[in-house]
Amino acid sequence: MMTFVKSKTWPNQKWRWLLPILLVSLFVTTLIWLPLQAQKMETNERQEQLIADTLWVEQAIQFQFLRNDDLLRQIGAEIGTKKLVPLAALDRFNSILKSNHEIQRIDLFANNNAIITSTSGYPLPNTDNLFPKRAHISAGNSIPPVNIDQKTRCMQPLLDQNKKNTYLLSCQIPLVSDRQYAGSIIVTYYLSGILEEMVPWWFAQDNEISLIDLDEKVYAKRAAGGSSKNVYTHNRPLDLPNVTLILRTNSNKSEPKLLSNLLVLSVILLSFGLIWSLLALWRDINRRLAAEDALRQQVAFRTAMENSLITGLRARDMEGRLTYVNPAFCKMVEHPAEDIVGRLPPMPYWAPEAFEEYRHRFTQLLAGTVPSEGFETIYQRASGERFPVLIYESRLVDENGVQTGWMSSILDISELKRAQELTRQQQEMLHASARLATMGEIASILAHELNQPLAAISSYTTGAINLLQSSQENNQDNPQTNSTTPDQTPLQSLLLSALEKANAQAQRAGHIIHSVHDFVKKRESSREPVSIAALLQSVMPLVELQAQASYVNIQYTIAEPLPMVQADRILLEQVILNLTRNAIEAMEHSPPERSILRIVARTEHGNDKQDVSTTDVTNHVTSHSTNHSTNHVTPGHYIAVEVIDQGHGISAEVAAQLFSPFFSTKPSGMGMGLKICRTAIEFHGGVLSHHDNPAGGTIFRFLLPI
Ligand code: ADP
Repeated sequence: MMTFVKSKTWPNQKWRWLLPILLVSLFVTTLIWLPLQAQKMETNERQEQLIADTLWVEQAIQFQFLRNDDLLRQIGAEIGTKKLVPLAALDRFNSILKSNHEIQRIDLFANNNAIITSTSGYPLPNTDNLFPKRAHISAGNSIPPVNIDQKTRCMQPLLDQNKKNTYLLSCQIPLVSDRQYAGSIIVTYYLSGILEEMVPWWFAQDNEISLIDLDEKVYAKRAAGGSSKNVYTHNRPLDLPNVTLILRTNSNKSEPKLLSNLLVLSVILLSFGLIWSLLALWRDINRRLAAEDALRQQVAFRTAMENSLITGLRARDMEGRLTYVNPAFCKMVEHPAEDIVGRLPPMPYWAPEAFEEYRHRFTQLLAGTVPSEGFETIYQRASGERFPVLIYESRLVDENGVQTGWMSSILDISELKRAQELTRQQQEMLHASARLATMGEIASILAHELNQPLAAISSYTTGAINLLQSSQENNQDNPQTNSTTPDQTPLQSLLLSALEKANAQAQRAGHIIHSVHDFVKKRESSREPVSIAALLQSVMPLVELQAQASYVNIQYTIAEPLPMVQADRILLEQVILNLTRNAIEAMEHSPPERSILRIVARTEHGNDKQDVSTTDVTNHVTSHSTNHSTNHVTPGHYIAVEVIDQGHGISAEVAAQLFSPFFSTKPSGMGMGLKICRTAIEFHGGVLSHHDNPAGGTIFRFLLPI
């Protein structure tokens, strides 16, 4: 039996999607989070880069300051040791100025703050306010201070009076000579110059650099590479003596754009792809589930169908191994499916005596020469009982059209065979009784026909004998008259003896015919109560057999209940079979819609002396019939049976001789059927008649007294 593995279903359809939805949400969240994180990291990285670069620039400025400071201290030291006269110092200052454009001027002061020399033609403004404390401490003090403050000091940047918006930063480098304060060099920077000269171009290209104080006041700014974005900024204090200046860098770079990021793009595409493929998968799963459902239903339907079949089904693979059997087959051979499925020949349901035949069939099967119309063989049940089967084989092909085996349908035809045998026996019996009836009828006709000639022969021979005997007696009385014919007496004696023998033979022939007639007539005594409905029922299989062969439909109308009649069952069967056979034969060439044979049985009250339905019975000539036929019935209750056809009908000429023995319009007809029918019906005290069917064809009707 076909088994079907039901797919495992989740307890709740809703929850089935929870896990994948959660996982997908997690995945999508991660995908969104990742680029954001990447953006953040990039921002951080840029910020860190800016800080590092700013630090580097700050170091560079610091370094340049220190270098300048060192250089000027060196010059200062030389001036202190008188190695360098102020004029030479000025030269050196000028050369420094040339190579360091960030320096506006360099002034050399004496320890009383009086100017000694200067690179500028203008006096340094606000010099008095510049470094008063140190000058004051140092001036007029003969005792050299133990710790002279030698640190460079810078002052708050001041606006340049000659140049607009230009701030200057002045730094004082104290000079010490013989451990005494000997004056100072004041170097004045352009703050913008510091940015221009000390900040490398590549850095200035990407960043806006400015110098500001703690109050955010801008002293100098350099923006070589366009406007800053205020996204990445960094403030770095410039470690200048005494002054707090802040180096502020502001990057030209804007925040990293999320969508321009390839990663983000790919992530978004990936997410869309994922969601799309999930939806497609979901749709596909739904489709599959629906298909599975339909398949399950179909399998259930097919299994129910196979289980309800009475035809055995069997599938075999290319080696002849049984791969499938349906319940009907198992029931037929009385073997459970699990015992035979998977087995190779010989099969347990093979009858040993037919092994060779099976083998031969199987070889034919392999060679593909098995007849498609099926074949008969025998199988053996588990109980050992043999039964005939009709097998139809067909090829089993897979979806690619490749043969994978054979499918056979097996019909247990034991019942059919039994029915066929029964029908055959019945037919034989009927044929025998038909032959007997025909013989009886012929015997009866012969008896009638030969009776008179035989009687005539007998009386003629008796007459002849009498004549001979009287002439013999005359001769004996007058011996003279017969003297001329002396040998006449022996001749007469011979003639007399021959005539007596002929007479005896004629008598004997008459006796024989009578005894045959009597023998046939003896059957007539077997009357019994017969139900017409049951009788019709019993002959129907035979009628149907004939009707099927001629594609004729049969309709019965049997009024219930029909009373019993006292009758000879065999004779009545014969009548019905004859009438129906004639009707079917008459419709041989009728169109299908007219090929209908109707049989009607009902009770009738025959109060008339004549069967009114009869149209032409009076035409019937029975000149030589002893059973003189008549269409008259005595009043009383009858059962009327009508056999109605829509065939070619009966012409007047045919009707005139219809009941004559040996009258037939059929090439192989004997012409005794209707004659026998009439005799049989009349024997039962009934009447057989016929008339035209108003719808075309003929109605044969007989009445039987109840
Ligand atoms: P048979 O059938 O051997 O010819 P029957 O005595 O049964 O002998 O019939 C005699 C003839 O009557 C048939 O040959 C046929 O011409 C005619 N006949 C009998 N029944 C019918 C019928 N139902 N319709 C037309 N003709 C019929």
